[in-house]
Amino acid sequence: MTQKPRYFDPHIHVTSRTTDDLERMAAAGVRAVIEPAFWVGQPRTALGTFVDYFSSLLGWERFRAAQFGVAHFCAIGLNSKEANNEALAREVLEILPRFALKEGVVAIGEIGFDEITPAEERAYVQQVEFARQNEMVVMVHSPHRDKKRGIQRSLAIARELGFPSQRLVIDHNNEETVEDTLAAGAWAAFTIYPHTKMGSERMVEIVKKYGPERLIVDSSADWGVSDPLSVPRTADLMRERGIDAAAIELVTWQNALDAYAQSGQIDVEALLARPQVDQTRLFADNSVLRGQAPRVDQGVPN
Ligand SMILES: [Zn+2]
Repeated sequence: MTQKPRYFDPHIHVTSRTTDDLERMAAAGVRAVIEPAFWVGQPRTALGTFVDYFSSLLGWERFRAAQFGVAHFCAIGLNSKEANNEALAREVLEILPRFALKEGVVAIGEIGFDEITPAEERAYVQQVEFARQNEMVVMVHSPHRDKKRGIQRSLAIARELGFPSQRLVIDHNNEETVEDTLAAGAWAAFTIYPHTKMGSERMVEIVKKYGPERLIVDSSADWGVSDPLSVPRTADLMRERGIDAAAIELVTWQNALDAYAQSGQIDVEALLARPQVDQTRLFADNSVLRGQAPRVDQGVPN
């Protein structure tokens, strides 16, 4: 029997997904995820809510994913949308280093541009500079409107700051931005949303046209209409459309691993072993179970 494919979803907001999603992801072969800090659907009004949010990405969410055999890493950053509340942004940027250098943090992110304002640019510059000084990876969010200009600006600033392009991941690319991103030497990530924007069909064409080097597929699944199985589903479609197995493995597993393992925070060997699930474990006395018998096993068979 050939080994079941394994997948890395390097952009998903696990905090807004259910345990059913985690079970389905593990069953579909998703072995590892990265949860970048983002906004939460409505603007936060106090520093404490950021503190608690960052803590949950490092603690409870990491534990919760592991309870279903999914290795969880995170990225810490001040998102572009909330960078526009400058008073609060200053406070958040001040406490950021307390979280960004902790175990399990593989990048500064997701940061970048939303409306492409001067306040967003200031927050981006400061965070890219922090990442440069600490030799970290940066995960860049690109705007939904004016995407091309947002990405060009993000790339230009990183270059001006002397940030190494091999540690720069530009996310939410599409056909109009992929060439700029690749030409700059950065990793080009693509978010596959169901029904809209970048779909699996378009991703297949991009891999055919540009080849698999430095391309990364992710779900960016969050509290909106999105699909936590985007990565395995896109891989299935690539297989159907005749893209070879090695290329599929690059864009749905290895490239994300190579990009983010530069952080030194990913134990690659542990990730290649079968996941261990032990639901008798607790996190600060809390369990994910509600009276069910705990699972203790070696995750999903290979
Ligand atoms: Zn996101």
